[in-house]
Amino acid sequence: MSVPKADDGGRPHCVVVGAGHAAASLCAALVQLKWSGRITVVGDEPRGPYHRPPLSKAMLAADAKHDAEPDPLRPAAFYDDHGIALRTGTRVTAIDRAARTLTLAGGDTLGYDTLVLATGSTHRRPPVPGIDTPGVFTLQTADDAARLRARVAAALAAAGDRPEVSPPRAVVVGAGFIGLEAAASLRGRGLDVTVLEMGERVLGRVTSPTVSDFYAALHRGRGVDLRLRTSAAKVEAAGDDPGDGLRVTTSAGDTLDAAVVVVGAGATPNDQLARDAGLAIAEGEGAARGGVTVDAFNRTSDEHIYAVGDCCRQPAALYEGAPLRLESVQNASDQAKTAAAAIAGDPKPHRALPWFWSDQYDVKLQIAGINTGYDEAVVRGTPAVGEAFSVFYLKAGQLLAVDAVNDARAYALGSRLIPAGGRPDPALLADVSATPKSILDSAKE
Ligand code: FAD
Repeated sequence: MSVPKADDGGRPHCVVVGAGHAAASLCAALVQLKWSGRITVVGDEPRGPYHRPPLSKAMLAADAKHDAEPDPLRPAAFYDDHGIALRTGTRVTAIDRAARTLTLAGGDTLGYDTLVLATGSTHRRPPVPGIDTPGVFTLQTADDAARLRARVAAALAAAGDRPEVSPPRAVVVGAGFIGLEAAASLRGRGLDVTVLEMGERVLGRVTSPTVSDFYAALHRGRGVDLRLRTSAAKVEAAGDDPGDGLRVTTSAGDTLDAAVVVVGAGATPNDQLARDAGLAIAEGEGAARGGVTVDAFNRTSDEHIYAVGDCCRQPAALYEGAPLRLESVQNASDQAKTAAAAIAGDPKPHRALPWFWSDQYDVKLQIAGINTGYDEAVVRGTPAVGEAFSVFYLKAGQLLAVDAVNDARAYALGSRLIPAGGRPDPALLADVSATPKSILDSAKE
């Protein structure tokens, strides 16, 4: 079956590939802008866009509410009311840029006038023997979280309420945000949790040693067995029955019996569709590698194709045009607004401040900005469990980013200063008795 592009009324057709956070925001933005075209969203998951952050947080908690479906980002009526066609359970396999058509799994084609790639990213499984053994999870989709949840419930039920028996163990591979959030959630379920991190410290790629040390102490204080400079060397089934669980051999040669293994080892952008279609891809080294290259309007190297969210890399206006690929709800949502404005004929360059949050136990981390290249880290408050504190990152006196731990005021301060290129007095930043106003005033001098 072939679907035409513009309909009988001559309305242009915008097709969005991927039905996640960026897709939902794009639809909402086009509706808000009263764009007159037709919209089709094609996603390969069995459901429409839903809240993904709870997969490592609330969806692993004991609350039975989370045995049901994840919370949708928009009610089904939103798509119906605005005539948006939502095709779930459908993978896009190829883009024909010359014909402006997509091939869908199963062979259908779909025509577009404007295409938006919102394909997200895929969680990595490190090359460890046995990493695909049943019972080893990544937390990418609601179905992953539901399967992990069910396996945890079964392990807890099998252990029963017997104080003489140790609770089942979860091994978490990787101490980034998703690994640590999963560790906190699974501790909350009463599991023994061991976290293996091959680096020197937790959250090593995103934060300073001060914040890493705080999170290591937080997790150890809650009973997590955190092993740094240690990776998983092998995973295997502990017996013939899935109920027998898994056995993990660490790089230190220890073996750990586990009911479940959760992998949080970073993600790679879903840019293969764009690569195959010959669109420009960021071919940098290491962390700068991968992602569909887009300009300030989220346009790819083809003027009819945009890319938004985790799958793309964009010059960061607030950071001297550094090509950034971000994995956050805020970024997906703000880039979608930028693309929608361009599609609707009112292009405005992207200039949003990146921000991010992470919830672990009762601790809320809020991050504003990107700290890459900082030469000074100023600590405000006491970085200890039970305290509120923040770390401000500066480069040649200019504020780049702030990590605020249970400290919404510091986050708000950073959110005002960073986009303005503020140069606050470090002595005032460090002084907890200094008011936000005095710090803002110091940045104007
Ligand atoms: P996604 O929301 O991932 O959606 C992409 C969709 O495209 C997916 O459904 C994918 O299956 C589909 N797709 C891919 N290829 C195709 C294809 N060829 N055809 C059809 N469909 C396709 N961010 C925060 O800011 N704060 C948090 O606390 C936080 N916690 C997180 C916890 C977890 C467990 C995870 C997984 C993510 C978390 N994030 C968090 C990150 C945030 O969810 C992502 O940055 C955001 O979802 C990105 O939106 P997106 O639309 O780019 O991608």
